[in-house]
Parts: sequence; structure tokens; C-alpha cells
Amino acid sequence: MTHPQRTSPRIDAAVIGGGFYGCMLAVHLRSAGAKVTLFEKHDDILTRASHTNQARVHNGYHYPRSLLTGLRSRVNLPRFVAEFRDCVDSSFEKIYAIAARHSHVTARHFVNFCTRIGAPVRPVGPRIRELFDPRLVEAVFAVEEYAFDAVRLREAMWARLRAAGVDVRLAADVRRLAAHDAGGLRLECAGVPGGESWVADRVYNCTYSQLNAVLARSGIPPIPLKHEITELALVRMPEKLAGVGVTVMCGPFFSCMPFPSRGLHSLSHVRYTPHTSWHDSGATVLDAHRLLAESPRRSRVGLMVRDAARYLPAIAGCRHVESLFEVKTILPASERDDGRPILLEHDVGLPGLTCVLAAKIDNVFDMLDAVPVPAERTERRAA
Ligand SMILES: Cc1cc2nc3c(=O)[nH]c(=O)nc-3n(C[C@H](O)[C@H](O)[C@H](O)COP(=O)(O)OP(=O)(O)OC[C@H]3O[C@@H](n4cnc5c(N)ncnc54)[C@H](O)[C@@H]3O)c2cc1C
Repeated sequence: MTHPQRTSPRIDAAVIGGGFYGCMLAVHLRSAGAKVTLFEKHDDILTRASHTNQARVHNGYHYPRSLLTGLRSRVNLPRFVAEFRDCVDSSFEKIYAIAARHSHVTARHFVNFCTRIGAPVRPVGPRIRELFDPRLVEAVFAVEEYAFDAVRLREAMWARLRAAGVDVRLAADVRRLAAHDAGGLRLECAGVPGGESWVADRVYNCTYSQLNAVLARSGIPPIPLKHEITELALVRMPEKLAGVGVTVMCGPFFSCMPFPSRGLHSLSHVRYTPHTSWHDSGATVLDAHRLLAESPRRSRVGLMVRDAARYLPAIAGCRHVESLFEVKTILPASERDDGRPILLEHDVGLPGLTCVLAAKIDNVFDMLDAVPVPAERTERRAA
């Protein structure tokens, strides 16, 4: 008896990875007329780095050593706020303090930088100044920076995906990519009901810490990337600090930011937040998700609080609720100036395969502006 041969569904574009970047890209391509399927290995979208992060809607202040990253955040924040107003928390006072010792920037440098990128910055009054130890903190500024609610952002993305008509496949782990005999790329998926193999004209790998894992399984050399297993401590702040977000910079210092989806603050410390780090290079590619799942989760919140309290004594009264762990992935070159450029590379190992390494949440628009919309679709739309 012969079995009828199963044909693979054919689509214009496959987006791998249902984080914020993959979802935004899928909607963008679909809105241009392409038939798009989004593949996400977990049971929901925005559960990985797009959920577990400091929730800062960047306005540039964080990057005094990288003019480009600062400027792009400054340009993109108003667009993000306009498009995702319901997801943005602007109800707190945002404070940047410059450490007096071991800082990569001085207060004068910081103010010059803010002026250059057009980011508002003003000195604080005594109520805020007195929160800091004057021996360790050179200057304290009030700025305009917000936090986003990652759960609301997930809901907003679901609404956009549905409205655009993107075909979303959850629990769909893309294992391998290969050139297809009749043109385009074949994707082999684990866990997709109704078929394990798909053919797409173009494939967009938006898997962040898994970018190279997908490439390696497809026999494609890795993109040089650095990964860190990071701890984000969620804490309840003492009353004095409940309505503020504080960043002490620039070097081995800390941030405490509102984490709106939980009604808590996140605490992160440049020295204690990264627990382990490694580079993908040559033939060595570790599966970052697996490594994280197998790693011990011993919190360093005590060390974070102890050091932060030297600068901001009231933080000693915070209560640790839990810690979230996630892999942070950056370009090795970013270590020089702490910049966060987006990586967008076309035809990586296979014609039609685009790889995206995301950066700041609000800089997603830079990626969308740089991704060419398939030509024939543009013509169809224009007709
Ligand atoms: C600790 C930390 C703090 C940060 N703080 C901030 C901040 O305050 N502000 C800011 O703007 N940015 C911050 N960032 C950066 C920002 O969170 C990320 O750049 C961004 O969320 C990445 O989005 P993404 O969609 O590319 O990745 P993700 O959200 O990680 O999405 C990738 C998706 O791909 C899926 N996937 C992986 N492999 C496969 C596969 N084989 N098949 C199918 N699906 C797959 C994953 O399950 C995941 O859902 C932070 C990041 C970290 C880790």
C-alpha cells in the first residue's frame, strides 16, 4: 500500500520567535500583503527576554558612552509611547545618579550627552538628593524615562497579530532550516499540529539567545555573540522609594526600576546580575535556553542590596519577592561602549534567511524600517 505524499504548506514568510521583535516583524510583513506564519516554541508569545527584562522604555540616558544607541532610543521612545500607550507606566519619578568614584562618566559629561541627544535633564530637589550618600554620588538628575508592562504588551501584540491575520503557531519549535529544491527554504518543526515541514520564500530568525542554536542545527556557522545568564530580582520597595526608579551609573552600579506587570521593582546590578557568560564562536554553540534551564538559581539579591545601599541607603529596607532568570545576548563589540545596536543580516548561510538580534524594546522601529518588504507585495498593495 502506498501512502499519499504529504506536501509542506507554502508561505511567503516564516518568522521564527514570538518575542516582541518577531511579533512586530510578522505584523509588519503581513500588513504589506505577505502570507506570514509565526513560529513560537513556547505556549505563548513574549514569555522570554521580552518579558524578563528591566522594563525600561529607554530614552537614551543609559548610554552616555554610545551616542548612536542613546540617540535612537531618544528618537524611538515617543513612537513607542504613542503606539503602546496602555502598556506604558509614566507614573513614577525617574532618577539618574552619577557615582563619584569609578564611574565611566562625570556629571558634566552626562549633562552634555543629554543635551546632545535632546533628552530633558534637570537637577533634583532636596527630598530626592537626600536619598543618596553625597560621598559616593556626584550628582542626581530627574529625567523622562518610563517603564512598560510586559503582560499588557503581550495582550497588545496578540490584538495586532489577530487584526493583521498572522498565522501563529505556538509550541512550534523550529529545529532546522534547509534550501528547498523548488526554491525558498524548508523549515522542520517539532510540535506543530498538521505538519512538521513548511516551505517559505523568506525566513526571519528572531530567536534572540537561540539565534545560533537554530543556525547550528542547520549546519550554518554561528554569528559571534555573547550570552549572559542574568538575574532580575523583584523586590517590594520601602515607602520612600516606592514611587521612584533609580539608576546609578556609569560602571559597576545598579538600577531599580518599576516592574509594572507585577506591581514590584526590579533590582539589577552590573556586577551581580550576570551569573555566567559565554561566547558562541567557531564550532561551539551552546543551547542558551537549555543551559539556563539546567543552571542553579542561587539568588545574589543580598549582594545587590548591600552594594546599592551604600549609594541609596533606603534600599536596605526592600523585601525580596522572587528572582527571574533569563539569557541576555549581545554583540561582543557592545562591551566596548555598552552600545546596543540591532543586528540585521540577510542571506545568512542560506539565500532568503535573515537573522535579527534585537536590542532595546523601543528601537524595534529601526528594525522594521530596515527590513525590505517583498517587492511584488508592495506593487500589489500600490495597485
Ligand atoms: C536581563 C535583561 C534586561 C533587559 N532590560 C531591557 C530594558 O530595560 N529595556 C529594553 O528595551 N530592553 C531590555 N533588554 C533587552 C530586550 O529585552 C531584548 O532585546 C528583547 O526583548 C529581545 O526581543 P526578541 O523578540 O528578539 O527576543 P525574545 O523575547 O527572547 O523572543 C525570542 C523568542 O524566540 C523563541 N524561540 C527561540 N528558539 C525558537 C525556535 N527554535 N523555534 C521557535 N521559537 C523559538 C523564544 O521562545 C522566544 O519567545 C533586556 C534584556 C535582558 C535579558
